[in-house]
Amino acid sequence: MIIESNQRPENAVSRTTVEAGDHYIGIVWAGQTLRLLDLEGNQAADTLFFNAHDTAERYSAMDTLREQGEVYLSAGSKLRSNEGRVLLTITADTCGRHDTLGGACASESNTVRYDLEKRHMHSCRDNWMQAIADHPEYGLTKRDITHNINFFMNVPVTEEGGLTFEDGISAPGKYVEMVAEMDVVVLISNCPQLNNPCNGYDPTPIELLIWD
Ligand SMILES: [Zn+2]
Repeated sequence: MIIESNQRPENAVSRTTVEAGDHYIGIVWAGQTLRLLDLEGNQAADTLFFNAHDTAERYSAMDTLREQGEVYLSAGSKLRSNEGRVLLTITADTCGRHDTLGGACASESNTVRYDLEKRHMHSCRDNWMQAIADHPEYGLTKRDITHNINFFMNVPVTEEGGLTFEDGISAPGKYVEMVAEMDVVVLISNCPQLNNPCNGYDPTPIELLIWD
């Protein structure tokens, strides 16, 4: 569902560019608004959320989809935790829908899906592992790296229940915005994938904006 935001970029309390293929970890406090902006279009932002005070509580795709009764995420979606509580609510979306079924790329999946020689290519899982290794203050370990949201990524579900990675439906300047319902840790891999069309075979930067 397309809903535009009234937030103005010049009023944001923080603006961070996450370069193509790079990662981000930080906290969004309860009541703050987080926007992910697809600067050049067709990007995939592989994202995990955690309760900042107890990271054993984290984003759960199955709880989120079951409770909303739809397979895509968009404006109105409540992003639920493995304890069924709402971490964030999507309040604006100019892309239209976002995936939470396709999972993230990893050296293992690159090897299985594409070729043995792809094993050493940069992946989302490696990005997350690098972020949590660089920031031990969040207390996250390999076990916390679970199923995720792929903001902007296009994984259509067919009538027959088929699932494919397709060319993106996002475009330059499209964004998704959400309000934190509790203090959350945000962990993002700005997908570096070069073997499927999730980011148009061309990783590009995204911007994160936060408002109080
Ligand atoms: Zn990826």
